[in-house]
Amino acid sequence: MGLQVERIPTLSDNYTYLAICEATGKAAVVDAPEAEPVIRRVEKLGVEVEKVLSTHHHFDHSAANPELAAHYGAPVFGHATDADRIPGFTDGLEEGDRIQVGEQEAHILFIPAHTRGHIAYVFEAAEALFCGDTLFAAGCGRLFEGDPEMMYEALCVKLAALADPIRVFCGHEYTESNLRFAAHVEPDNREVQSMLERVVALRAGAAADWHDATPAEMSVPTTIGQERATNPFLRARDARELGERRNLKDSF
Ligand code: ZN
Ligand code: FE
Repeated sequence: MGLQVERIPTLSDNYTYLAICEATGKAAVVDAPEAEPVIRRVEKLGVEVEKVLSTHHHFDHSAANPELAAHYGAPVFGHATDADRIPGFTDGLEEGDRIQVGEQEAHILFIPAHTRGHIAYVFEAAEALFCGDTLFAAGCGRLFEGDPEMMYEALCVKLAALADPIRVFCGHEYTESNLRFAAHVEPDNREVQSMLERVVALRAGAAADWHDATPAEMSVPTTIGQERATNPFLRARDARELGERRNLKDSF
């Protein structure tokens, strides 16, 4: 497909990604709270980091930006309105903007709700979505700076319009607990049940330290099609139902 995505486990359950153009070896780092695991993976693969991307300003998605930017001489991207709160910020993006990673191209979706400057990077041809803390596998982010209407617009209008095969690279390994909640909300959803069984088995073999996690224990990526079938927030009928589910999940 032309875009190789490396999953780098960071902090206690974060995903940092390396999106690599296979034709050129140029790469972008997505959502890095720690520099060392990223630098180690880049050296192992022998790729060339040309951009540092953040989906939003939270420290667990951006704290390592200045160190990585200095190390690679790379610009740091995020939503234009987050210029003063994304560490190392140099380049502002807006809905519809396009950025290149080698020969690969992403377009930007503005999806505020978790934070007011949250964006997603959509590599449409390569079928890869980097959506931070807005859409999780079987879940969604908390509404820190937005309301249910904004999350509904982000999830059920913008992200739900993407094609089924697009792989969902989200910000955290939260899938197992999200699926337990999904099974509570939709007890008759057989796709939720079978995905829950699969993820419980996969997580049972997890390393004690998330930094040591191997691909075999990672439930991410899923796909837009899979989320359409299992995600109780993407499946909400309207903003009201999404809001009710989000409230319920906050204390589940
Ligand atoms: Zn966040
Ligand atoms: Fe986060």
